[in-house]
Amino acid sequence: MNKERVVIAGTGPAGLTAAIYTARANLQPVVLEGMQPGGQLTTTTDVENFPGFPEGIDGTTLVMRMREQAERFGARFQRGEIAALDVSSRFPVITPDEGDPMEAMALIIATGARAKYIGIESEQKLMGRGVSGCATCDGALYREVPVAVVGGGDTAMEDALFLTRFASKVILIHRRDEFRASRIMGERVKTHPKIAIHWNSVVEEVLDVSRNEVTGVRLRNVKSGAIQDVPVSALFVAIGHEPNTKAFRGVLDMNEQGYLVTDRTRTRISGVFAAGDVQDPTYRQAVTAAGSGCMAALEAERYIGGLEH
Ligand code: NAP
Repeated sequence: MNKERVVIAGTGPAGLTAAIYTARANLQPVVLEGMQPGGQLTTTTDVENFPGFPEGIDGTTLVMRMREQAERFGARFQRGEIAALDVSSRFPVITPDEGDPMEAMALIIATGARAKYIGIESEQKLMGRGVSGCATCDGALYREVPVAVVGGGDTAMEDALFLTRFASKVILIHRRDEFRASRIMGERVKTHPKIAIHWNSVVEEVLDVSRNEVTGVRLRNVKSGAIQDVPVSALFVAIGHEPNTKAFRGVLDMNEQGYLVTDRTRTRISGVFAAGDVQDPTYRQAVTAAGSGCMAALEAERYIGGLEH
């Protein structure tokens, strides 16, 4: 079995920042790169709120540059996701889905979360071309045009209210006739002059795949069956997120939505740290993920220092 000092799982801003810090500390981290190298940032276009890029930067370029920075200091990248984690002995043993198991003095889990999507073909085809899972990331790109939000929870309310700053009109689509969101958020949305709510409605199709851009949404009223096309330039899907924590069930503490529970970045297992969206259902920003990746790296470095002296 390979013995490593630091293994980092995930190559979004949390994992890559942890890689930069631990590599610079000469810990030669192994970074496991999963199915979506670069993480959720690669599904967005312009990132305009990451400090240091006043002109904006595209999400993929941003994570590629973080990766180059980690490689420059000696981080080693390897394809694979954690298939199993064993914490029964002194050091965590990581079994990736590709390659040999590894024993690590410290493991930093930065496997992120994924936005849930509706699951229709046109949504998939227009992803990044008007379909987005992140209003904070992409909302400012749609100024003075109508946009739609789907969902009835607090995220959908927050997204709809946020989008009113830019869009000419926000269409909110919810599958039931009452919101799941907190009353106060729901009321703000209901009374906002720029927001029109389509109750009992689901998105049948995102238009228009043949033009390779979003020109509208085809809605179906689940009560009456009526079909209606509503012109919009973007569709923001806000039906919840799910953390990538399947491999850690029964091993690490999770909240009821599956997010890892941490004390700062420490899990309840010594030497196992978690950073970024996998342990953060609240902020979910590239910059907060990077910040917690840094924290996890510093914690891991101290922890290893304690073991080696
Ligand atoms: P959520 O509370 O789980 O709400 C998801 C919404 O999406 C629900 O309205 C649900 O409809 C709808 N939905 C789910 N699957 C769907 C599908 N396939 N098609 C159409 N609609 C679908 O998720 P969230 O809004 O992301 O919030 C997650 C947690 O974070 C919540 O605890 C929330 O309170 C919290 N949060 C808090 C704040 C805040 O306090 N400022 C902000 C954001 C999030 P149904 O209602 O019919 O199930």
